Amino acid sequence: MSQKMQAIVIKSSQRKEKDASVLLFSLESGKVWATLKGVKNPKAKMKTAQSQFAYGEFVLEEGKAGKIVTSFEMIENFHELCEDVDKFFEASAVLGALDKLDFSSTQERARAFVLTLKTLKGICFGQVKKNYCLSKFLIELFKICGFGLFSVKCSCCGMKSVERFFVDYAIGELVCAGCKTFACEEMPKTAYMALKLLDTTDFEKLGTLRLSAGSELALLHVLVKDFEAHFDCKLNLIGIFI
Ligand SMILES: [Zn+2]
Repeated sequence: MSQKMQAIVIKSSQRKEKDASVLLFSLESGKVWATLKGVKNPKAKMKTAQSQFAYGEFVLEEGKAGKIVTSFEMIENFHELCEDVDKFFEASAVLGALDKLDFSSTQERARAFVLTLKTLKGICFGQVKKNYCLSKFLIELFKICGFGLFSVKCSCCGMKSVERFFVDYAIGELVCAGCKTFACEEMPKTAYMALKLLDTTDFEKLGTLRLSAGSELALLHVLVKDFEAHFDCKLNLIGIFI
């Protein structure tokens, strides 16, 4: 039985001489590995389906050794991402984060899929400053997974007008000085302001956003640490913190 799905290529690897394996993130089934037959041939019809970031409609069929792609219609190739090294690293970090995750429900998966497309579009076409889309992606991803980071009050005691916020990496929430534990680290004020601005700005408006110098990287360090603590993994962030 064939299975039609909308998907983004997270990564691909070579198999045998002419074949490639692709890891897809699909709206319908989440992450799926599938084989593209004969795509190393330059004339192959589906050769564009092995490119990282390729987004399109895939048809998969069950073969003897796993799923095989039998048809592919490109919707967007995001090829600009491969022409600008900063965009490439940022978009790769987004897909690298997805590579580490499995979504527990259909609804979570669908929201993460839409978020991924918005993020790639923002990086690719949005004229957005470096790494803003990646930070926005992580902030929204945490919300989808049920632990939104931004808050105007201490998540533990509920106190408002908090002077110094601390990140509780054990639960991925902000707490006040009175509620902090040994697992907490202070969130720099500039990083908190950057978090607030990114949290409340839509993807479509990110191009107009200007965060104070250094605050975006301070925030990104917090977001990455939060991701790695929560999902117990290491993110591949080549080219991000330079
Ligand atoms: Zn508190």
